Amino acid sequence: MTERLDAFMARANAAYYATHNPFADFTTSPEISQVFGEILGLWAAVTWQLLGSPAPIVLAEAGPGRGTLMADALRAVSRAMPEFRAALRVHFVEISPRLRQEQARRVPDALWHDRLSDVPDGPMILLANEFLDALPIRQFVRRGNAWMERFVANGQFEERPSQDIATVLPDCAIVERCEPALEIVGALAARFVRQSGAALFLDYGPEHSGHGDSLQALAGGKPADPLGLPGTADLTAHVDFAALAAAARTAGASVHGPAAQGLFLAELGLFQRTNRLARSLPPAQAAAAMDAARRLGEPNRMGRLFKALAIASSGCPALPGFGE
Ligand code: SAH
Repeated sequence: MTERLDAFMARANAAYYATHNPFADFTTSPEISQVFGEILGLWAAVTWQLLGSPAPIVLAEAGPGRGTLMADALRAVSRAMPEFRAALRVHFVEISPRLRQEQARRVPDALWHDRLSDVPDGPMILLANEFLDALPIRQFVRRGNAWMERFVANGQFEERPSQDIATVLPDCAIVERCEPALEIVGALAARFVRQSGAALFLDYGPEHSGHGDSLQALAGGKPADPLGLPGTADLTAHVDFAALAAAARTAGASVHGPAAQGLFLAELGLFQRTNRLARSLPPAQAAAAMDAARRLGEPNRMGRLFKALAIASSGCPALPGFGE
């Protein structure tokens, strides 16, 4: 069988998420510190007010993993802004039946969908951490003065001529394109033109549209062959935030960021909240909580490679966390 890389990646990841506990292979910000989800909950609460406090409102999450982020967010929101907690209804977009079960344990009253486009109409705030990086990419390789596209056959790349890239780059340059991410962001932006809303994406990716191969696989916590047996490794690629921001602007939404995750979280009080949490913990746990916050925020750890990007209805000129 020969498949285009994006078809291969979609099939491999669907099989992987259906059969594996991804959190045995990698960890994510909400699993590192409870303060991450709490802060995103407060971000959603303030954003809700900036949107004019519409009620009811959908609080959606794409790719909620173990449901940790949303559980932490709801706990913080219940305390800080009970009127937002009362107005919101949680909707999860998740393809993995196995992870849905785990999410239901932490957020029993959520509703589930296969696709973001299935989330009902009306005002919406969406959160998505490490969701876009799991979506399938296409890759193009420059050969001489022509472009080839990468297909996968028997665990190896096969190249076929392509007319889909217009730019001229040096021989052997690689360009990636994540069409589902562009479609999702474009559709959300169009939705936010019609209905009030905002979406916050956190993920890893370079500052500017990069060229180069960022496809990677993790199996058992270690780098693996991305083209190995489909379903045995988690496949991801860097998120092209500049391309997503451009797609959202074209569709008429306001765009905030991308900002480095460390700056975004620090502005929203990562270290103050963690300090307060640490004061209520025994010394060893307090030290672990402080280290977890530093891991999320420090530039040489997750603070710089990870970015935050928000898109919103155009009536929303400034959003928290973006230094606006
Ligand atoms: N946000 C979580 C999990 C990140 S892992 C966290 O930060 O811990 C990626 C998540 O996206 C998993 O829940 C996975 O099952 C889900 N996912 C991957 N591809 C998806 C798709 N095409 N549609 C919906 N969910 C998807």
